[in-house]
Amino acid sequence: MPKTQIEHIVIAGGGTAGWMCAAALAKHFENTPVRITLVESPDIGTIGVGEATIPTLRRFYAALGLSDAEVIRATGATCKLGIEFADWYKPNHSFIHPFGLFGQDVKGIGFHHYWLKMHQAGYPAPIDKFSLGVQLAQAGKFSVPSNNPPSSLSRFDWALHFDATAFAHLMQKTATMLGAQHIQGTIKHVHLRESDGFISHLELKDQPPVGGDLFIDCTGFSGLLIGKALGASYESWQNQLLCDKAVVVQTELSTPDSPPSFTQAKAHSAGWQWKIPLQTRQGNGHVFSSRFMDEGAATELLLKQAQAKPTQEPRVINFQPGRREKAWVKNCIALGLAAGFLEPLESTSIALIETGIEKIKLLFPSKDCDQTLQDEFNDMTRMEYERVRDFIILHYKLNQRVGEPFWDTCRDMPVPISLEKKMALFKSNGHLLKYRWEIFQNPSWIALYTGFHYLPDSYNPGADSFSMNYLEGAFNAMKESVSTAVAQAPTHQAYLASIMKGF
Ligand code: FAD
Repeated sequence: MPKTQIEHIVIAGGGTAGWMCAAALAKHFENTPVRITLVESPDIGTIGVGEATIPTLRRFYAALGLSDAEVIRATGATCKLGIEFADWYKPNHSFIHPFGLFGQDVKGIGFHHYWLKMHQAGYPAPIDKFSLGVQLAQAGKFSVPSNNPPSSLSRFDWALHFDATAFAHLMQKTATMLGAQHIQGTIKHVHLRESDGFISHLELKDQPPVGGDLFIDCTGFSGLLIGKALGASYESWQNQLLCDKAVVVQTELSTPDSPPSFTQAKAHSAGWQWKIPLQTRQGNGHVFSSRFMDEGAATELLLKQAQAKPTQEPRVINFQPGRREKAWVKNCIALGLAAGFLEPLESTSIALIETGIEKIKLLFPSKDCDQTLQDEFNDMTRMEYERVRDFIILHYKLNQRVGEPFWDTCRDMPVPISLEKKMALFKSNGHLLKYRWEIFQNPSWIALYTGFHYLPDSYNPGADSFSMNYLEGAFNAMKESVSTAVAQAPTHQAYLASIMKGF
């Protein structure tokens, strides 16, 4: 017998997750009988942070028909070439994790093997001299990647820093234009069907109830549907990631004439501080471990280091790193903070919303929400979260801030076996182990390993098929080509001005 198709999807919550999901599903089900309704409380605010992204976001909004220029204008965005990690390895040391490649691979051997060979022989240039993304960022420049002439040296990617509220509004506008319904109402109770425990409807304060076939829980940390109503448990990673609080504040720009084209992540004694430049203001936050610092000291440090005038009162956000053990239970799928949270060190939460939406589209169920689909979705989600967790842990594990209790604890902690294997393989000969469902690809791991000076004593012996002299000439030519591209690029400020003027 044919299965009964889903007719009505109800999204609970109108933060970044809810509206991104509404826009993407409205597009996906355009010209079909599937209806989409989003319910959002006028009384419960959104988290109000989440302003640094990774390049996948640009693919997400492009699929909705939005251009980079439209999004930059609508959200006061700046461009992001990567993240600068200051003082993480040691005080007064910094490196950038770019969205792009290092150098050119030759004969199927990664560039980093040639660089390791040269580095071991005393060649002085760090690997980031061969990254156009890093060099543009350090020079305060920005241009979109060009493939003329075609070369992997010119290949890099970029993302945005945007105003989260403005981005949610843009998604709302897109979703409603595509036919999604919007109800402003606070959910008082989630009703389950007696027969199978599926959600039947949401009871709202002072509004008619909302029934549906599939419910997407985007209610943020409260996880009202997935956790409170359906009892999905939360797997805490607090024993591997010690930070559990963030104090956040918006300020004026600290460098209004030259906003950086990268996110700044600066290590402090019990965590780290971000600076996210938008066109007219700066987002700031201090992520820290309450075991090693209290809220007062964390706030004081945040305000001192923001180097700009606050435009609001700082506020503290508590969180527990981890994830829902099952993001899909019965006829409810959790997205965004309702599904899990990892500290924003690599700006991964919004990316995980995107991949969650992709999986919903891929595994879209009939009304019975077949268990095999749920299992597959939950398995994929688990792997994705675990891979991101490992990448974040690496930042703490590799620190050399010896003598500071928080950092000593992070360095001495055992890491998950999946990460241990990756680290061991790289240390042995520079080999990069790739798992399924990794958001971060090989260049990101190379950026971290080299940025933290976690280098092997060996390299792929295939790199020996070129002489040192030959490699030195090739390396110098690559550096030259990167420098020329940087010299020709406009400043980040000039690039933004041209976008805002509509050129
Ligand atoms: P929320 O924004 O909390 O929205 C929840 C929605 O549910 C609201 O609309 C609310 O009204 C509604 N709701 C709740 N209860 C009810 C109810 N009873 N009835 C009706 N509606 C209800 N991510 C990044 O990618 N990059 C970053 O740089 C980044 N920085 C972060 C920094 C911090 C300190 C934190 C905590 C998070 C950060 N994130 C970041 C994560 C990012 O903010 C979230 O992933 C993103 O904003 C999505 O949030 P959300 O929509 O799931 O939840």
